[in-house]
Amino acid sequence: MKKYGLSVLLLLFLLILPVMSRAADNGAHITLDGKELELTADAGIETVSGSIMVPLRLVTENMGYTVGYDNQTETVTINNAESTIKLVVGEATAEVNGAQVPMLVPAKFSGDGASKATLVPLRFVGEQTGAQVGWDNRTKTVYITSAAQDNQDTVLTADGSSEGAEAAPASAESDSSSQLTGLSFGEGRLILAVKGGVTPSVFKMSSPDRIVVDLADTSFSEDFSSSLPLSDTLSGKIDITEISQVQDVRYALFSRDPDAVRVVLDLSGPADYQVTDDKDGLITIDLNTSSSSTAGTQQTGGDDQQTSALPAASGKKIVVIDAGHGGTDSGAVSLNKRLEKDFTLAAVLKLQQILEQDSGLEVVLTRNSDTYPMLQDRVKLANSINADVFISIHGNISPDGGTGPNGVETHYTLNRNSEALAKVMQKYLVQSSGMADRGLKTGNLYVTKNTNMPAVLLECGFLSNPKDEAAMYSDEFQQQLAEGIAAGIKEFLAAS
Ligand code: ZN
Repeated sequence: MKKYGLSVLLLLFLLILPVMSRAADNGAHITLDGKELELTADAGIETVSGSIMVPLRLVTENMGYTVGYDNQTETVTINNAESTIKLVVGEATAEVNGAQVPMLVPAKFSGDGASKATLVPLRFVGEQTGAQVGWDNRTKTVYITSAAQDNQDTVLTADGSSEGAEAAPASAESDSSSQLTGLSFGEGRLILAVKGGVTPSVFKMSSPDRIVVDLADTSFSEDFSSSLPLSDTLSGKIDITEISQVQDVRYALFSRDPDAVRVVLDLSGPADYQVTDDKDGLITIDLNTSSSSTAGTQQTGGDDQQTSALPAASGKKIVVIDAGHGGTDSGAVSLNKRLEKDFTLAAVLKLQQILEQDSGLEVVLTRNSDTYPMLQDRVKLANSINADVFISIHGNISPDGGTGPNGVETHYTLNRNSEALAKVMQKYLVQSSGMADRGLKTGNLYVTKNTNMPAVLLECGFLSNPKDEAAMYSDEFQQQLAEGIAAGIKEFLAAS
């Protein structure tokens, strides 16, 4: 009897073992509002192109959403009182309350897909549910604080406790119908990112010369100050050194009740400009205009003037370089707690310097500081200026949390001439990095799928690997890498 019992136990153990070891392999955890959710081997945490993927049903059901799945169309629908989110496995775009919303990495089935648990990027869950999300690469733990929990905290701490400092500014921004969420100046263009739909009023002033952009009924977004300086009196300034025409960009809450934000470009002399408002959150004031007839004309039209065709008119090839993540999105956290967004920006700024020495190229960055342009904005920017090539720079992390995986890979979508670009870029990426060649990967990453030109996303080493990581944060390696990427871009453009 005893013997029999033992073999049953052993059998049970053997049966359970494969399941357990797979879960243990991964060793990841999810906590939602401080409670650990139970991960199974069928629905665990994976990493795809540096994005942490979490089981959608497990997470959202525990947040009070209803989850449905249509086998026929492979569509997952998530509902609560306020919103409906629909997404299809493999598609880089989800539908949120009827609007198309990008996902850097498309939803996928977990593991080999046999069990059909749907995994989505953690960041997507955060953006669409309003939850705060985080990932600790050392303990392999996903942290989610749901929006409901957040509100609760605000109420609990409203009467005195200082713990709610993070939640407090939320109420300050609800007065205005629009918000300025970020701005940048580069390549002679001032780009404003706004939420809530506002028609800018742009005009010139003289003695001294300046261009003024007024945004009525607009305030600064809560996280504006996380990426740009903003004083207690809600004003700030960025000094511009890259072109002599513009001295600085100033911005301030110009009036209150109703709120209005004013952004001023201080000029060294009179200048013409062209305004493009894509009516979807991106306003560009471009000083690279040669036609004085458009100067001062506010363009508020729709699709017919999407393309300003400015740099193209010069006969230059337009290269859009995208430093992955930024601002509130740190990207992956490295072995030594360094941030992916810092690596990508450092590498991109070096790449910009190299490319700008080529007079046949017009280099446009999606960000040149620690800001977070939305994925849509990055794509829109490239599409609106008819870029010839789009290069997104990222750092990788290992899918299972181990430190082993290392090397470089190039992602692209099977469209246009992206495969030819990917081949050239991977060749130079391997050469210049000296890292292992992990090859080409096809997929539907948002930025490679939705750009209208050959586009690649480069994973320039593993932040989770000690050797790769040490290199990636060294100036010398970044310079070498940037030179390789620049050479790849030039070779591709010369051949295309
Ligand atoms: Zn990344």
